[in-house]
This record gives sequence, structure tokens and C-alpha cells, in this order.
Amino acid sequence: MDSLAFNRHFEYTPAAIVFPRSTQDVAIVVKCASPVNGTIPVSARSGGHSYGAFNPGGQDGTLVIDLSNLKNITVNQDYTLNIQTGNRLGDVALALFANGNVQWPMLKLDLLAYVGIGGHAGCGGFGLASRAWGLVLDQIESTRVVIANSTVLRAPESINSDLFWALHGASRIATEYKVRTRSAPPSNIVFSYTYSVDPSVASEILASFQSFYQYSAPPELGLQLSVFFFRQLGIITLSFIEIYMGSLTAFNTIIAPLISSVAVSPRTSNVTQFEWIPSLVRKGGIGMLDTSLRLDAIDTFFAKSLMVPHDAVLAPSAIRALFDYLGAEGVTTDTKWFVLADLFDGEGSMIGDIPLSSTAYAQPLSDIQWQTQYYGDHYPILQSIHSKYNPSSPFRYPQAVAT
Ligand SMILES: Cc1cc2nc3c(=O)[nH]c(=O)nc-3n(C[C@H](O)[C@H](O)[C@H](O)COP(=O)(O)OP(=O)(O)OC[C@H]3O[C@@H](n4cnc5c(N)ncnc54)[C@H](O)[C@@H]3O)c2cc1C
Repeated sequence: MDSLAFNRHFEYTPAAIVFPRSTQDVAIVVKCASPVNGTIPVSARSGGHSYGAFNPGGQDGTLVIDLSNLKNITVNQDYTLNIQTGNRLGDVALALFANGNVQWPMLKLDLLAYVGIGGHAGCGGFGLASRAWGLVLDQIESTRVVIANSTVLRAPESINSDLFWALHGASRIATEYKVRTRSAPPSNIVFSYTYSVDPSVASEILASFQSFYQYSAPPELGLQLSVFFFRQLGIITLSFIEIYMGSLTAFNTIIAPLISSVAVSPRTSNVTQFEWIPSLVRKGGIGMLDTSLRLDAIDTFFAKSLMVPHDAVLAPSAIRALFDYLGAEGVTTDTKWFVLADLFDGEGSMIGDIPLSSTAYAQPLSDIQWQTQYYGDHYPILQSIHSKYNPSSPFRYPQAVAT
């Protein structure tokens, strides 16, 4: 079971899985791997939820360093947070709240309580609060990291600043992050508006969503348009869902233009006010945050992501082609599917506010030609920093930076 990838499309047999109890243990494991550099690839595993099974290195024969025993979370007096990278998001949310009502923006918790902070922060870390608070990656003040020669370094911006920049998007074995936090909002509105409509109305709904987020969605609104498999020919089932951090009165005012721009009324709607933790439990889908209560699940899936820039949104003809396809082939297939459209940018979004030069990432997401699409002009710089800190690196997986 320990070697199973979360996505069962991928089956890899690790050379070994080790379970260190401290940063020093991680360093010792990396040192043990050094004499066989070049033959034994080394990879970290935090929550194990990589889509592409990158934690077993994306190949057989990897030495997997499982960080699940590194569970410390310390809330500092200034409400920054030191968090070891074996923690999972659900447990982090509970621990923070128990320690003085602080939270931070990793809160896309649909089925996600089990995602690990190691991989989540390393890949950016988008959540429902990200438009208001930023990505998790952008909240990191310093990182404790084990590099290829088994040295333990701290990388705040003032020392090892090149390493810190590189860690922002291409980290190796990070054992602890220090991050900024925010106060948990007292009022959170969890909402859903569901429609069952033909492809033509579904197209209008997606067009309304695009126009709303370009001009009218405040950053405190986490909004998603979800389209789900429903076996009825020519009928599309789709919902506006997610969470608003603020009062019910303000939410009603903000959402009204979106709902009234749709020609038909929702088939069902649900708008409920919650305090912070209950809102996360509700959004978590699995009804709980404490990951010690139940074993993690596994899944079998194929996923694809597309980014639609705010100044070049989907054309009406493209939207219509999508829903014609989903309403025909989509409802007759045996494969369950869903399509999710999330808001990242828009007026006031903190995600777009961070200069691209501040992290190694040059693009938020992509799935092909990853060197240029993730990192752009930053990739050669990243390679030279990687060569400096990790020459003849044992850290190898499909999208590892090459030395
Ligand atoms: C159902 C589901 C929903 C998701 N929804 C979202 C979402 O809404 N928003 C979002 O931003 N992401 C989302 N993700 C993506 C998720 O954040 C990433 O897959 C993340 O990398 C998983 O982190 P992990 O630690 O659980 O995975 P792991 O498989 O343990 O790690 C993922 C990668 O990071 C590396 N890594 C892990 N820990 C460390 C470390 N300490 N130091 C260096 N490298 C490390 C691993 O080697 C591997 O390459 C979702 C994933 C799933 C499965």
C-alpha cells in the first residue's frame, strides 16, 4: 500500500521507501543515496497526491523519502507559521485554528484535506481564498531544504537568495516552510446554484461566468463553474459553487448580477453562512478535515488543464462546441467526467499582483513543454542555480530541472 500512487493509472515500484523523523534524518538518507548518484534517483513524498505519480519519481527504482513523520506546526508570536512538510492540508487547517484563529490561503479543500503541504506549496497552491490572499507559494518567507550533497540550508530572501528564488517553483527536499498567515474571516458564505439546461443555455451560462469574473467578481469571492456527468441526452448539468468570505448581505449583492444574467432560474440553490472551520468541512466534500480519522483514498483518472487569459476569453463558438460535445458524446460515454472552471485572475486578484520575476515560475500552469511553459526565460537561470546547489543531483522525476 505504501508504494501505491494516488492516481492508479501509474504503477511504479520504488527501490525503497524511507520514513525519516527529522530534517537531519532526511539529510542522512540523501547522503546514503550519494555514493550511488546516477543510478538511484531520489524523490520526496509529502501527501502523495501528485497527479502524475511524481513522488515515486515517475519511474521504477526510486528511493522515496516519505515525509509523513515531519508533522510539527509552530505558530510564532507574529503569527507567522513554521510548518514541516509532512503535514496535510486538513490537519494544517485544524492546527492553525486551534492556535489562535490564524489561517492561510491553501483552502481549496474539495477532496483535498489529504493533499500534502510539500507538493501543494511547491506547485503553487491555489485555493478558494487565493484571489484575496495569494497562492501558498507566495506566502513562504523561508524554507529549510536538504540539497543534493546532504547539506541542510535555510533559504530566506536575505541569505541564499538564489536558492530561495529557485525553491519558489522548483524545490527539492523542503522539510519546513515559514509562511505568513491571515485571520480567519468570521462569516463565510458557501453557495451553489445548479442548472439543467440544453447546450445553448449552458453556453450562455459559461459566457456570463466569463464576463462576470472579468468585471464584477471581487477577490473575496471564490467562484467555480462545475459541469458534471449526467446521463440525459442533450442536457447539461452545471453549477456555480464555492465560497464568499464576507457577510450574507454583501454576497447577495455581489452574486445578483451573475444569477440575473442567466435567462433561466437555477433548478436548485443553496446559500448558507458558516464560521471558518465549518465552512472548510462543508467545502471539503468528505465532511472532515482530520486525516487521522480515515485512510486516504486512491483514484484512477486522466486530467488536463487549460489557462484562459482574462484578455482572451473563450469565444462563443468555442463554448458552444464544448457544450454540444458534452451534451452528445459526453452523456453517452461510460467514463465519468467533470469540467471545472476556476477563477484565478480578475480585478483585485492577488494572484496576478505578484511579479512573475519573484518566483521561478513564469506561468502558473501548463501540461506540455513544461520547461518553457512553467518557467519561460527563468529555466536557464534555474538550471544554473540547480547546478550550483545540486551538482550530479539524485533528485530525478519527469519534470525535474536538469543540471
Ligand atoms: C483531488 C485533487 C484536487 C486538487 N486540487 C487542487 C487545487 O484546487 N489547487 C491546487 O493548487 N492544487 C490542487 N491539486 C494538486 C495538488 O496541490 C498537487 O498535486 C500537489 O503537488 C500534491 O501535493 P502532495 O504533497 O500531496 O503530493 P506528492 O505526490 O507527495 O508531491 C508532489 C510533487 O512534489 C514533490 N514534493 C513533495 N514534497 C516535497 C518536499 N517537501 N520537497 C520537495 N519536493 C516535494 C514530490 O516529489 C512530487 O514531485 C489537487 C490534487 C488532487 C489529487
